Amino acid sequence: MKKKKLLCLLSAFCITASSMLPAFAAEGIEGEEDVTLDFDTTATSSYSKNAASNGNLIVTIDPGHGGKDSGATAKYNGKTVNEKDLNLKIAQACKEELEKYDGVTVYMTRSTDTYVALSDRVQYAADRHSNLIVSMHNDASDSSSVNGTLMLLPIQSTYRPNLLTEAKKSATQIHNNLVSLGLKNRGYLQREGSTKYPDGSTADYYSILRNGTKANIPSMIVENAVLTSKHDYTNYLSSDAKLKALGVADAQGIVKAYNLKEKGAENSAAALGDAPFTDVYNTDWYYSPVIWGYNTGVIHGVTQTTFAPKDICTRAQAVQMIYGYVDNPDTDDMEMPFTDVSSDAWYADAVNWAFNVGVTSGTSDTTFSPNDTCTRAQIVQMLWRLFGVPIVDETSNFTDVSSDAWYANAVNWAAKNHITAGTSATTFSPDNACTRAEIITFMYNVSAYSYTGND
Ligand SMILES: [Zn+2]
Repeated sequence: MKKKKLLCLLSAFCITASSMLPAFAAEGIEGEEDVTLDFDTTATSSYSKNAASNGNLIVTIDPGHGGKDSGATAKYNGKTVNEKDLNLKIAQACKEELEKYDGVTVYMTRSTDTYVALSDRVQYAADRHSNLIVSMHNDASDSSSVNGTLMLLPIQSTYRPNLLTEAKKSATQIHNNLVSLGLKNRGYLQREGSTKYPDGSTADYYSILRNGTKANIPSMIVENAVLTSKHDYTNYLSSDAKLKALGVADAQGIVKAYNLKEKGAENSAAALGDAPFTDVYNTDWYYSPVIWGYNTGVIHGVTQTTFAPKDICTRAQAVQMIYGYVDNPDTDDMEMPFTDVSSDAWYADAVNWAFNVGVTSGTSDTTFSPNDTCTRAQIVQMLWRLFGVPIVDETSNFTDVSSDAWYANAVNWAAKNHITAGTSATTFSPDNACTRAEIITFMYNVSAYSYTGND
């Protein structure tokens, strides 16, 4: 049993243990699992000091639960409503709204209905040098009369006390905005766990906040509304438009906290010329690759007007881009061994071709795992296979690619031929998820490379 002990420093809105704790236990976000986290604990992720951010605010939005973990559930009009689905829609709206502003980069720990472990969510944010983690949730309660919005914040610890100060900057603005929508004010909650921080002080109870602190990232959990409240469901959660309003309110809290400015007309997507994407700007580092990709048919948008450059690329999307690059060869005589790729999937031809020409061997003999995230190592390995596995003599300067890694030869080839410049001069970050912008940049760089048979 975990210690049910509350530490509530924002006393104006203090919540009592008896009314709150059963709800969170049902929520399953406590996550006291003891995992080894690969955080760079020497780096400071404070916005103003973070060199990696270049003065850019990096926000990781974390849609709570997903996949096998539905989070809270409630039944309305005979249909079960899962918290995980609401969280994702709120997070997507929050991301879209934030991206209307300059000087902010937004990532999401999941963009589909997939299961992501709690510690992996913080690891994801840490890998992207995030300055802020905002975990999106909706609460549940055994009592149908509990409704409203609640913020979970890190405890005031002696270990990295500045993280709470930084988190509160956005948290108070987000909370104010949600209350302005008419949600009941349930205040702020901080909770001590049973483990310790490295300085021996008591650590946070909630996994995202505890691991966020270990990763030196200000973090918060937003319980936007209460799913089990018919009042909250009807007024705030029962349509896409209502969920969007919550996501926009959350985003506007961050906009206000960091005084973000709306994107200027001079950087407008109109400058994009032939490509129709409203979310790709001529000042973006991936602008040229996207234009090239669109005009050569390698890519299509995720909608008629959006490319979603910062969305994580799935294995299906990556293979589809390679297939587009080679001009969609005929697959009539090919047979595919993967049982998780249905013959009418939009990526079926691409996967079939990629397997039969040796670009991919799948994630097992019978699976391709189309919806899994494509890592940087995987895409480079596929491109290297596309060019017939050329072996180069030089070894890359990347200290995170060991010489016996399965992708080492591919990375050496990609580095030598300027297909990748790494994530820094000395790192390749093989296990990082690839964004769509990164994939199209790899393809763009590959297009300038032609294999002559002797590298
Ligand atoms: Zn939740």
